[in-house]
Amino acid sequence: MQIYNTQFHKKQEFTPIDEGKVRMYVCGPTVYDQIHIGNARTFLSFDMIRRYLMFKGYQVTFAQNLTDVDDKIINRANEQGRTSAEVAEEFSAAFIEQMHRFGILDPDIRPRATREIEAMQEMIQLLIEQGNAYEVPSGDVYFSVRSDGAYGILSGRDLDQLRAGERVEVNDEKRDPFDFALWKAAKPGEPSWPSPWGDGRPGWHTECCAMIHRYLGTPIDIHGGGSDLIFPHHENETAQAMCAWHGALANVWMHTGMLRVEGDKMSKSLGNFFTLKEILDKYPADAVRLLMLQTHYRAPLDFSFERLDGAVGTLERLTTCVKNLRWAAKNAPQDGVLTELDRAFGAAIDATREEFVTAMDDDFNSAGGLAAIFGLVTTANKYLADAGDTISTAPCLRAADMLCELSGVLGVNLAKATDADELPAELVDLAAEHAGYAGTSPSEAAEVLLAARAAARAAKNWGVADAIRNGITALGLVVEDTASGARLRTKE
Ligand code: AMP
Ligand code: ZN
Repeated sequence: MQIYNTQFHKKQEFTPIDEGKVRMYVCGPTVYDQIHIGNARTFLSFDMIRRYLMFKGYQVTFAQNLTDVDDKIINRANEQGRTSAEVAEEFSAAFIEQMHRFGILDPDIRPRATREIEAMQEMIQLLIEQGNAYEVPSGDVYFSVRSDGAYGILSGRDLDQLRAGERVEVNDEKRDPFDFALWKAAKPGEPSWPSPWGDGRPGWHTECCAMIHRYLGTPIDIHGGGSDLIFPHHENETAQAMCAWHGALANVWMHTGMLRVEGDKMSKSLGNFFTLKEILDKYPADAVRLLMLQTHYRAPLDFSFERLDGAVGTLERLTTCVKNLRWAAKNAPQDGVLTELDRAFGAAIDATREEFVTAMDDDFNSAGGLAAIFGLVTTANKYLADAGDTISTAPCLRAADMLCELSGVLGVNLAKATDADELPAELVDLAAEHAGYAGTSPSEAAEVLLAARAAARAAKNWGVADAIRNGITALGLVVEDTASGARLRTKE
């Protein structure tokens, strides 16, 4: 399986450090507000990547931090007259809630910066002792980029070029403009912890590095984030690890493309800024997921409501196909004879799996994976239309299972969507009234009613046919005429 490694600018064959196991880390959010759909795109991409690695049989250990101490959190707390801890607690819970709604698997390990102060201080101390970091009179501690001959290795930047191109940050205490804070001396009203360098708090670049070392051990197999994190965040992370422990932080660096809204960068000032919460309040999570997975994770993703509406239709097409296949399987004549059409359909089902795996093995090409799934939807719909009276149970069930399994690998849970149609008990009375049904099963009653309606229509007895349909509609159900006959389903 091939994965694109940012550090080497190319796809490489993936070989885990320990056979059969993958240790991966994805930088988490700074918890000062609801996350936006750009953040969500990055987290969703790594959820898909993690699920596919699991599908391939790897035992995956996945860690993701919460940055719960940061300037943005402190500013928000000051604006609202609350403590920084209160703001961080509210938005950590909000983040986890939205991740659950979006169907993203919980990490195995979710460290929080404020609970990892000791691990960070140990790393900073080591960097000072080894000559890679220095304390300044104000109580800040900086990483010295000049002390690291390999600085720039991840992003491919050269320090001299960087210095020439950047405005120098006004800070007399830094030895180099690209030196970054490992520890920030406490300012009045800010959260702080005691340290050998005085009260203060950790710098952002420090937390992931210390947490990875503590919880996963370095190097890890995969380190990920949005492409905006390559420089300076990930460059600084890898620099600290190389200097502290004399080895790489990660073997493979993976970065997602940025989400844009109708071609523009998403930003509050342009008014095209959407939180994940507001989108999930209005649209099914699986439709948002399909929309995002239709674009390769490294490419920029253009979000628009038109595309989102399209994805709602795409999801419906998939769930309807699975429902129709299950319904057809249940109602197929059980003669067990496989026709030419059945055999061709069976071969297409097997080919779908291969096509899906080939696409996904190529740097998690989820767009290709979805194309394989929707290819099978087209084939299945055609089979149901063409096979008519000779529909066979086995290929229908196999196709439905295949669609559910492969969609599930991408995190789209069709089993949930297709099992949701619990039929109401009132159908029994309706069937008793219109067709003399004497049993107690709603699904049996549904079949009796549909048969009675079909018989009435065949006899051009429109009054009875309409009365049955109206009774069904009044129960919040719709009669759906599919290629393989009529069925009931709950109204959307
Ligand atoms: P932050 O809370 O700003 O550190 O962001 C959390 C994650 O979201 C990081 O991995 C960022 O790279 C990622 N991210 C931020 N903006 C976008 C965007 N517009 N599209 C995709 N990913 C993003
Ligand atoms: Zn990080």
